[in-house]
Amino acid sequence: MRILRAKLDKGTVTEEVFSLKDFACPGGAGLVTEYLAKRLKETGGKFSPLVIATGLFTGTRLAGASIAAMGWADPSGEVYVSVFGGDCASRLTDHEVKLISLEGASEVPVCLHISSDGKASLTDASALEGRGTLSTVRKLRELYGERSSVLCCGPSAESCGAISCVVCTDPDPALPPRQASPGGMGRAFSERNLTAVVTEHSPRPFRISFSGRHKERFDLLSDTVNSALGSDSLTGRLLPLYGPLPEDWFSSPWRELSPELSAGGEMREKAAWREKILSSGGFCSMSCIPGCTVRCSNSVKDRKGAYLSTGLDHETAFLFGSMTGIFELRDICAIDSLTTDAGSDLIMTGQLLGELAKAGALPFGDAAGAKRLLRGTGSPEGALQRYFSENGGLPSLSVRPQTGIQRGYRPEAGEFCAGCFMCPLPWRALMKDPASADALMELASLIGWETDSAFPSSLEGTVSSFAESIREGFNEN
Ligand code: SF4
Repeated sequence: MRILRAKLDKGTVTEEVFSLKDFACPGGAGLVTEYLAKRLKETGGKFSPLVIATGLFTGTRLAGASIAAMGWADPSGEVYVSVFGGDCASRLTDHEVKLISLEGASEVPVCLHISSDGKASLTDASALEGRGTLSTVRKLRELYGERSSVLCCGPSAESCGAISCVVCTDPDPALPPRQASPGGMGRAFSERNLTAVVTEHSPRPFRISFSGRHKERFDLLSDTVNSALGSDSLTGRLLPLYGPLPEDWFSSPWRELSPELSAGGEMREKAAWREKILSSGGFCSMSCIPGCTVRCSNSVKDRKGAYLSTGLDHETAFLFGSMTGIFELRDICAIDSLTTDAGSDLIMTGQLLGELAKAGALPFGDAAGAKRLLRGTGSPEGALQRYFSENGGLPSLSVRPQTGIQRGYRPEAGEFCAGCFMCPLPWRALMKDPASADALMELASLIGWETDSAFPSSLEGTVSSFAESIREGFNEN
């Protein structure tokens, strides 16, 4: 496997050999944080690289393993790490790329391009300036093929950095529905003058292979994990049917914000929403990364049958729905699509809309008003910017620096380090079952990752200590 180091200030890309043995935590969020710590130590805590890495099991057939992580550190030493789905991790693995380190900043907008034969170079991206993410993805796929994976930022990155994200394409060649979002990831792209990372499909994709009894053992353990996912009620039944929608998923925040509203517009039943998605001509039970057997994603079409949005889930439903009293599926998806096109974090955008509804600037249930506000986000004429510049700037939202682990996962439940291994949803199900947890541990050892302490608690200290050393590095400088 390879590490690609793109020196954006020099316009060069070099490569190094990636060895599992060089890292205490050789995958996903842990690897990103450890690599950041190493680089910052070398450079004396100056400008942080932006690091993208694939999961520990990416490249094997283990379900939920094709996740990617992205991270950087700001000058105060806060570490921002996001774990995200889509086709990035699998496309990078196709070309034997384990990690990308984007260093320095370019003077002109650039794109990191990995060609179908695995060669990496920096190309001029001036022609993509000012475009929304949907248009950027269309253009890059026109140039490099429909099966290329694209990571890119949008107009939000420049002017609304705190709410900006990086979007990622899906295996289904639609538009870029996945987000690497906490902490203004889009800003990390724009500060480096990086517009996109595009990875072409490889005609001869690399896969981690095993031989002899190792292969038999790996297959058996993968089957153990897959059958645990299939028999768990969440990952085997509820998630494939309804996606990650909680029970009574529209009621709580909406009622808290506006108790005087009647419950008439609510659509609480998950089954009814599945029906709506299907009758829109859309799809349920889709996988957001190649090879995930849980398949909890979905896709919605507009009234003309055109693709509208992918991945309606608890975040979209709560934040674009119940926070604002908007309950029509296609309205929620259209708001999702506008947010994606701007390259804005959907959680923070939903929070903003909720703030506006609470302040009376957006009437509850006004879907057309919400869309008007979001159109043009990132451009100086954008209604959202205008509103906030006239009203004292963006409210202080919970921008979420992370210490190398996904906040929101509970360490005491063993959920903190999912981002090193696989999507957190299957991870949670597997961690409930000691046999599956043991199988994962053994799978890791078959890949070649050696750890002499217990799994997964070995990572808690490791990942946090990398984050700690990044902070110390910055403080010393
Ligand atoms: S469990 Fe759902 S969110 Fe996670 S990888 Fe599978 S399809 Fe994607």
